[in-house]
Amino acid sequence: MSDCIFCKIVNGEIPSTKIYEDELVFAFMDISPINPGHVLVIPKEHHVSCASIPEETAGRIFHIASRVGVACKRALDIPGFNLHLADGSCAGQVVMHAHLHVVPRDPEDGFRWNWRQTKYASDAERESIASGIKEKFKL
Ligand code: 5GP
Ligand code: ZN
Repeated sequence: MSDCIFCKIVNGEIPSTKIYEDELVFAFMDISPINPGHVLVIPKEHHVSCASIPEETAGRIFHIASRVGVACKRALDIPGFNLHLADGSCAGQVVMHAHLHVVPRDPEDGFRWNWRQTKYASDAERESIASGIKEKFKL
């Protein structure tokens, strides 16, 4: 897509620090990292949502992100990493070309996902919501 910054990165119109590239995916350093070593793994083809990425490419993105995470552990001597994907602006997606974040983590990095744990009002409510999701689930 002509006005997409990540498409421009893939085709070299905008410079980036590349980590990995093959026929389906491109991985590069995030310009404003959560932690040093933060990498983005993207499909070369423009997709706004991860849900429209073909299965082979989606699988490759997850595989490459996992291997980049392991490379970060070795290179930065850190014990773990997060994989994160925001789908939709309400979920925090800012760049509308689907991307999987690889965020190196260290116990002392001071970063916390703002994660909350709520409760269903009842088991019936949880089961009813699950039924609705299963009804709408399509491969
Ligand atoms: P989102 O919030 O959409 O999940 O993440 C977008 C990410 O893209 C952010 O972490 C941001 O730092 C990164 N980003 C935005 N513009 C550029 C850019 O021009 N170059 C690179 N390397 N990263 C970018
Ligand atoms: Zn794009």
